[in-house]
This record gives sequence, C-alpha cells and structure tokens, in this order.
Amino acid sequence: MYFISTRGGERVTGAEAVVKGIASDGGLFVPEEFPTVGAEEFEAMEHMDYPERAACILKKYFGEYDGEALLAALREAYSKFEGDDPAPLIRMDNGMYMLELFHGPTCAFKDMALTVLPYLLKRGCEILGKKEDVFILTATSGDTGKAALEGFADVPGVKLMVFYPEEGVSKLQKQQMCTQDGENVNVVAVRGNFDDCQNAVKKIFGSEKCVKAISDKGYLLTSANSINFGRLAPQICYYFSAYLDLVTSEQIQMGDPVDFAVPTGNFGNILAAYYAKRMGLPVGTLICASNKNNVLTEFWRTGIYEIKRPFYRTMSPSMDILVSSNLERLIFELSGRDAKRTADRMAALSKSGRYSLSTAEHKKLREEFFAGCTTEDETVECIYDFFEEYGYPMDTHTGVAMNVAQRYEEKLKGDTMSEIHPIVVVSTASPYKFPQDVLYALTGNDVKDSFKGVKRIHLLTAMKVPEPIKAVRYKPIRFKTTVSPDKMFDEVLKFL
Ligand SMILES: *Cc1c(COP(=O)(O)O)cnc(C)c1O
Repeated sequence: MYFISTRGGERVTGAEAVVKGIASDGGLFVPEEFPTVGAEEFEAMEHMDYPERAACILKKYFGEYDGEALLAALREAYSKFEGDDPAPLIRMDNGMYMLELFHGPTCAFKDMALTVLPYLLKRGCEILGKKEDVFILTATSGDTGKAALEGFADVPGVKLMVFYPEEGVSKLQKQQMCTQDGENVNVVAVRGNFDDCQNAVKKIFGSEKCVKAISDKGYLLTSANSINFGRLAPQICYYFSAYLDLVTSEQIQMGDPVDFAVPTGNFGNILAAYYAKRMGLPVGTLICASNKNNVLTEFWRTGIYEIKRPFYRTMSPSMDILVSSNLERLIFELSGRDAKRTADRMAALSKSGRYSLSTAEHKKLREEFFAGCTTEDETVECIYDFFEEYGYPMDTHTGVAMNVAQRYEEKLKGDTMSEIHPIVVVSTASPYKFPQDVLYALTGNDVKDSFKGVKRIHLLTAMKVPEPIKAVRYKPIRFKTTVSPDKMFDEVLKFL
C-alpha cells in the first residue's frame, strides 16, 4: 500500500508515512486507494477479539510490517486498558449505543491510537533503515499530549516534546501532563490558544531551517498529532469493531447501516469513521458534533470554511479548535482527489482565512454527514437529563455528541421519508477527566479542586474512578515552563 500527499507530488510507503508524519509539500498522507474488507473476511472478524480485529484492518495499510508482530504489539498496547475490552459498546436506555473509548492509560480516546503509534513508528524506522533517534513534536488541546507522553515515555531512541495552550486545557489535563515521568519527555505551556500552538508547530515542520537544526542535532522530526496516518489507522478499527459488536449481539443484521455521532475537534476521529465507510463498513450518516466553536457546523451549512471568528474556551477544551487539520483529507476526497485544488485551498486558508466548496462538493458533504453544534447550556442540560433519566454520566465532549445526536434523531422522526438507523455515540473521555465541569452539569455545584470533583462524582454515580486519575493526585509537578509561540523553537533546541 502506498500513500500520497493531499497536495500532490509525494508517494510513500506506510512506514514512511508514519515516520515522516507530514508530506514535504505540507500536505497530509492519504492511502493511494482505500483497501476494502470483503464479506467473508468481515464475517470472520465477528468472532475475533479487539486486537485481532484491529490487526485485520491495520495489515491492509501496513503491508510491509510483519502481521504476527503487529498483532503482538496490539495485544500489548490494549493490555494497558482497564477491563478486557478496550472499546466496549453499551446499549443506552434511549435506544442509542455508547462506544466507550476512554478505558486506556489517560482516560481519553487518544489512547486507542497513541498506545499503538510507538510500535508503528519504531518498526517503521527499522524497515526504512533509519539509524537516527526520533524527535516527536506535538501540539495538544489536552488529551493528545498526555496520551503521547504515556505512549512514548522512556521508549529508547525517542524524544518527545509537548506544547499545550496555557489556559486552554482542564486543570486535571494540565496536572496529568506536568507530572509525567520519563527521561525523554518535555512539556511546555504556550501563551495562546490551541490554534496558536498548532500553527507554531506546523511552522517548525514547514521550515527547512528548523528541520535542519533538528537533524543537525541527530534527530529525525515527526509528529504524534492526528495529521500522522499512524494515528488515524488505529482509529478506523474501533468503528469496525463496534459494528461487529452490534451484529454479534443481534442488535442489527450484517449489512444494516449504522450512524455514528462523533464529538469533533481536529476532525481525526470522525475522519477515521469516514475511512471505515470507504473501506466498506455499512455506515449511514456521520454526525459531526461541535461545541460553541462551530466553524465546522457553519462549513456544512454554507460550504464556506471561515476561520476569522471569535475563539471560545468551553467545557470541552479538546474541541476548542478553529483549524481542523484533518479536514484537508476530507476536502481532498470531495474534490475527486484533486491535489492542486486542495493545495490552493490550504494556501487560501493560511493567507485569507477561508476557502469555499463548489456546489457539487457541498452537496456531497451534506449527503454523507450531518453537522450540529451545542451551546454550553445545552451540553450541561444534556448531561444532566441523561444522567437523571438513564443513570449514565457522560463527559463534556460526549455530552456535545449526544445532544447533537438527539437533535438529529428528532429531525428524522419529524420527516416520515427518512430511514432511521441505530446511532452509536462515540464517548471520547471519562467523566472523571473533566470532574469540575461534569460535577457542575450533574448537580449545579462548583468545586475548586479537581479531586473533590472526582470524589463527589463518585458518590453521586457510583461509577468506578479510573486508576490513572487516582494516581496523578499525589505526583510532583515536573514541568513548569511557559513561553510565547515565537519562543517555542528555542525551547525545542534547548531540549535537544
Ligand atoms: C481529541 C478529543 C476530541 C476531538 O477529536 P478529534 O479527533 O480532534 O476531532 C474529542 N473529545 C475528546 C475527549 C478528545 O480528547
């Protein structure tokens, strides 16, 4: 399997796509064509466990990796999750399904991929005969950073640096990152929001001078953000697995379409669902849920992507993003894989802050997806109502997705012509990861201290507190540096 850049020119293997992270022309790597899952193979996957199912999917993209070793790596990665299923699917009393992706080491869905990425990357370097150490540079809105830190801490031959927006992450997220162990990692706060962080990181990747300075220090630069195909691929797997769970539990028949509702920020998670669909998974509508930063909802409504707008800090910080990197991969598909057009649009976005779709592209966009957004009050109310009625506590990101999913279902019910499919809501974080906001949603009470919030949520819901949340409480803070975006590269050089 080969990968091509969304902006044309480059064609690489899976190992190269993962090791490079981003194409030399600034584009993102996408599979040259989507591999498909045949009917027989799909049925065989019914009786497999999660790592085996994931291995079936990943092998299609990473043919040059050894299949047995890949399966072993997946088993090892998912052994770090609590419980015996890393992606359990739970039927809710409102008839929807919850796909819980937060049982990993950092209690958010990023673990699904970031526990696997170290293997894909290290093995990729071996395949390519790269001798240098790897330097992973990452911008985070909170969850990627911690998941990458856990995934790569003390991995030999790797150094990892994480930049996060000083005021743009929850207290607990900050504490999780700043108490991280590992001799090879560094965490730095940035004055600004996530977009400022992500832009500065992208600039470093795009600057020959910076890349050379890093290489002069003996490192190969790569990314653990969802622009890296090695992040996306493991995310495709849980859509297949959730579907298979619906079949084996006789909730649906093989072939019935299923809708997925995804709380969206950088567009990585929902893009993986779209890729699963392109691989043949019977997916109906993809529900793209945003918070008050509703640039995507507007894009769906108007066909114009416009980032000149106010940026809001919300209770779902991992979705506080205006420039969703992975959207580039979607518009590449919408344009009929027109690399020139995609490159022009990305240039327009960085120059004038906007681009627009053609009428035909806009139509396609609206056929495959439903987009909606919620206000902070709506999210709070959704979490409260859902807990009161069904006894299930959700985190603030999942609350956004549930609210939009409910609205989508209402809309369909009002329209007798539409077919109603089962809806799977993707739950991206444990409610304990955002304890103050979740407690506020459940009870209207404010607490200053995260761990007081954890305790109260536990008393109220009796939901088990995840071990990683308990563990962070008494760990010393190791990382205290804050810099402005223009000083980020200096920090990189200091660290290396
Ligand atoms: C990262 C994250 C999201 C957004 O996912 P994208 O792939 O960036 O769209 C949603 N919820 C949580 C909890 C996250 O950590």
